[in-house]
Amino acid sequence: MLGSMIALGRDRLSAVAQPNMITAHAHSAQPRWQTLWQQAVRDPRELLHLLDQPELAQRVSTAATAQFPLRVPRGFVARMRRGDPTDPLLRQVLPILDEDRIAPGFSLDAVGDGAARATSGVIQKYAGRALLIATGACAVNCRYCFRRHFPYAEEAAAADGWLQALDYIRADAGIQEVILSGGDPLALATRKLAQLSGALASIAHVNTLRIHTRLPVVLPERVDGELLAWLRGLRQRVVVVIHANHANEFDSGVDAALAELKSAGVTLLNQSVLLAGVNDDTDALVDLSGRMFAAGALPYYLHQLDRVAGAAHFEVSDERARALLAAMRERLPGYLVPRLVREIAGESSKTPL
Ligand SMILES: *Cc1c(COP(=O)(O)O)cnc(C)c1O
Repeated sequence: MLGSMIALGRDRLSAVAQPNMITAHAHSAQPRWQTLWQQAVRDPRELLHLLDQPELAQRVSTAATAQFPLRVPRGFVARMRRGDPTDPLLRQVLPILDEDRIAPGFSLDAVGDGAARATSGVIQKYAGRALLIATGACAVNCRYCFRRHFPYAEEAAAADGWLQALDYIRADAGIQEVILSGGDPLALATRKLAQLSGALASIAHVNTLRIHTRLPVVLPERVDGELLAWLRGLRQRVVVVIHANHANEFDSGVDAALAELKSAGVTLLNQSVLLAGVNDDTDALVDLSGRMFAAGALPYYLHQLDRVAGAAHFEVSDERARALLAAMRERLPGYLVPRLVREIAGESSKTPL
């Protein structure tokens, strides 16, 4: 909610709020991905209608929908199995009654972002790298998102043209890598990304730009000619960490987008979250690694869930997580086995399990 509105900008708020205006905008000069972005499904009943399972509406939570609305691009919906209430992609996006359950230990700021906030829009927890909240916007609202309660409106660094964030990074020669996160940094118009990378290029100690993004998976149309030209022109080394949790998230459109990213010279990695009912079995994880490799990405992290309020029904025990990793190791080459980690507030790195 907050997020999408920030990134789309004031001039487009009306189109977002009123779906019947989208046709008018489809003919304007904006890139195609932005049109597709605006046409995302936002009504749980519509989603369930598209998937031939209107009866699932009984399990939808009005409170959870109000707190963190449904948002899912239509191309991602097309990869869901119709008539299957257990579909692993659907489970990641549908606000269900389980979210209303109060679970001990699940909080609003699960990973201590509040405390690690260095300056407007910058979170620094680890040596050598700083994370910049480039925007609060995301194309998809994942129910387990650890920033689902994060006050983006205050934090989006873009609000002041990243001035404070850039000053902070410039002043610390130890920062070699800037991680663009959010929200989803590729939610920004390429022109905005170019402004940001241009400013970063003037900071000699920053030699690596990392982009944490789910867009190449959920809205592969984002990887368009303009984005690729921007990537090709960057002075810094570029690492793109995509986010897919299940093999079914890949299709030919995603394959093409990732192939183009690679041809632009980026290092391509994937991070996943271990999620009950989505990927918490060995076959699903083995298939996920194989599928991402076929698409050109290597596994990076498999995250234990951040304990954010509303996501307790996704939790997998550490014991089970370790067993799943052990089973993966028996079936996969080492380079297709992700690092199983948890983020613990106050630690100096992600913690291996
Ligand atoms: C996860 C994270 C990083 C990146 O950690 P890596 O181990 O380098 O992937 C950086 N900053 C913050 C605040 C993070 O949460």
